[in-house]
Amino acid sequence: MWDHLWLGARLATMREGPGPYGVIIDGALGVKDGRIAFVGPEADLPGRPADLAHDVRPAHGAWVAPAPIDCHTHIVFAGERAAEFEMRAAGARYEDIHRAGGGIGATVRATRAASENELIDAARPRLRALMAEGVSTVEIKSGYGLEFATERRMLRAARRLGRELGLRVHTTFLGAHAAPPSLVKDKAAYLTEIVEEMIPALASEGLVDAVDAFCESIAFTPEETARVFEAARKHGLRVKLHADQISDRGGAALAAKFGALSADHLEHASADGLAAMAKAGTVAVLLPGAYLMLRDTRPPPVALMREKGVRMAVASDANPGSSPARSLLLMLPLACALFGLTPEEALAGVTREAARALGLLDETGTLEAGKSADYCLWDIGHPRELSYWLGNMRPQAICRMGQLDA
Ligand SMILES: [Zn+2]
Repeated sequence: MWDHLWLGARLATMREGPGPYGVIIDGALGVKDGRIAFVGPEADLPGRPADLAHDVRPAHGAWVAPAPIDCHTHIVFAGERAAEFEMRAAGARYEDIHRAGGGIGATVRATRAASENELIDAARPRLRALMAEGVSTVEIKSGYGLEFATERRMLRAARRLGRELGLRVHTTFLGAHAAPPSLVKDKAAYLTEIVEEMIPALASEGLVDAVDAFCESIAFTPEETARVFEAARKHGLRVKLHADQISDRGGAALAAKFGALSADHLEHASADGLAAMAKAGTVAVLLPGAYLMLRDTRPPPVALMREKGVRMAVASDANPGSSPARSLLLMLPLACALFGLTPEEALAGVTREAARALGLLDETGTLEAGKSADYCLWDIGHPRELSYWLGNMRPQAICRMGQLDA
């Protein structure tokens, strides 16, 4: 017997092939032991509903879609930077903010001073806000320690939050996030510490699902990034990359060369870099929140991504500096309005493609039998509405890893 079964649902399976949104009308969805046991037309059910499941529920025509996945966040941190935002709004320049003690350095200092429990208490309401939108899976990066103990504390906090909240948390080690001279005295020595000490130790503790780096004129060079990636590869870890956000540093091609799960931002990525990504299966993660808040003017080359066959995911980039996001679903209309994604691409970007960007497509991201039961019920007329309403969308039921909250 299945645990529960929805009848009379409209399904946006987000599977590729069977038409837009993978729609099935008059659909049914059955769940057993945390996994999808059946998804398809009600007429194809292998028996009478009452004989199939303990708990049979009418969906009354509601839409069922895969639970959203936030595949790029820096959501564990201490302190916020609203004062800095206010300064910028009043016309302050980068140097003014830096002199006032702002920028990433402010977050690093606050995060270094916070205990593991304090990091958890600070991040919990942010994660709960995402979960209220039905989010089932969140990627969480380290990168505000820039030294071993704090990087480790951030990753431990991320893992504990996942267990406490019943959320699937994918951790990414981002020691190579920044190297400001006031915090990392010797960049070369810091890089050696990342490669020779941090990655081996954190990987052996099971705290790292992937390794990321910030390849940019203001952070790490392509050569330095490659050193980090070689170390990740040696420990059997997949990589991701903050690439080509401010300038074309060849980040897209570098990510592809290392078979990266994703390359993220990509506003300045080249055609050759995108072609390499498509060939390597590296997903482009688009981050409209940071683009909006930084008042960037050059959107990522979405038309070129389509032309080259690059998969596109969408994420919140939740972080205290450039994207203080407390919503993933808000990123859907923003991705459409600012970057020109179609509503279907935007929804795929936080479901199927976000799962792919985390190496989790076999587990979640579409409604398919055998996958984890991660789905939401929406009281809407069509799934395109998820990319249309600007904020405050709430599902009427949420199922995460088979745990139904309705
Ligand atoms: Zn980021």
